[in-house]
Amino acid sequence: MRRQAQRMERSGTPQSPVSGTECRKCARIRRLPCRAGLFLRAFFVYYLGMDIITLGNELLRQKAEPVRPIGAEYRKIAEDMIAALHEGKGVGLAGPQVGLMKRIFVVHIDRDVPRVFINPTITMTSQDQVKCEEGCLSIPGMYADVVRPESIQVQAWNERGRPFTLDAEGILARVILHEYDHLEGVLFIDRLSEPKRNKIISKWEKRKKA
Ligand SMILES: [Zn+2]
Repeated sequence: MRRQAQRMERSGTPQSPVSGTECRKCARIRRLPCRAGLFLRAFFVYYLGMDIITLGNELLRQKAEPVRPIGAEYRKIAEDMIAALHEGKGVGLAGPQVGLMKRIFVVHIDRDVPRVFINPTITMTSQDQVKCEEGCLSIPGMYADVVRPESIQVQAWNERGRPFTLDAEGILARVILHEYDHLEGVLFIDRLSEPKRNKIISKWEKRKKA
């Protein structure tokens, strides 16, 4: 998830190495088939670093697979994802956004430590819902108000393979839900009304062509 212009952005524009068109590395990774592809994508991400893919790349629409087992390589993957998150000046980044189709995301909001979630399950959502502006590192420059539960409980494993349960509210809950959606191939624009979604998509396409 991207920091918002006013409330959440540290500064500047998120780095988008792909700039709307797929880079050669992403294209190469995307062409790889199913299970062997998943392994090789993890390999590429591990050794070649991370580029954030953007709207239009079909990987953002696919469901990520569980991490089994949570090997030592996930410490470096999590570290690299946190570095990519900081570079992009975001607050959350999920595996599929860097072409890694595994159930992992990282979150780092202000006045909190970076957090890693592997194989997460949302075990509780509050009935209270709140509306707040969201952006996404995979749709840079686009923002919209999204309604989500105010508080949640999530169970997951960290990068060392240790399970934990976290009760989160406010912005932390929102970022976790946004990143969890990425693991399901869902983007924040899918949670908008159709006219609002179409408006963002056409604005995004115009910007891509510019
Ligand atoms: Zn996002």
